[in-house]
Amino acid sequence: MLRRIICGILSAILVTGLIGLSVSANGESVYEFVIDDTHHTVTIDGISEEFREYVAAQLIGIDDEAQPYSLKCMVFGHLENIGTASHTMHKVYSYAPRCVVYVYEVTTCTRCGELLDEVLVSQKRINCCPVG
Ligand SMILES: [Zn+2]
Ligand SMILES: [Zn+2]
Repeated sequence: MLRRIICGILSAILVTGLIGLSVSANGESVYEFVIDDTHHTVTIDGISEEFREYVAAQLIGIDDEAQPYSLKCMVFGHLENIGTASHTMHKVYSYAPRCVVYVYEVTTCTRCGELLDEVLVSQKRINCCPVG
């Protein structure tokens, strides 16, 4: 009985969430997420490293845990910083090119990591995952 509950919890975690992190040669952080069987890759650049994962999660809408703002942000407002995020959604189409990459200019707070604004810069289909 207990084992079944634990298995249930584990599979629930695997269905939605961060499955991997790597750092590319030019210093960007690359995060892999799976949400409802859809594979997402998010690359973050130009944002302080400690908040990259949080920004990636906010960008694809899975971070519903409200982070407490820092006291300074409450008093003085957020300290804005602009970075770049690219979000690849894999296997969106059943025929090639199957994957779509969205590039955003993201405005975040350097103190608390809050994603304040996102502007879609480009969107294109790419040959990434094979058909079948
Ligand atoms: Zn802030
Ligand atoms: Zn792909």
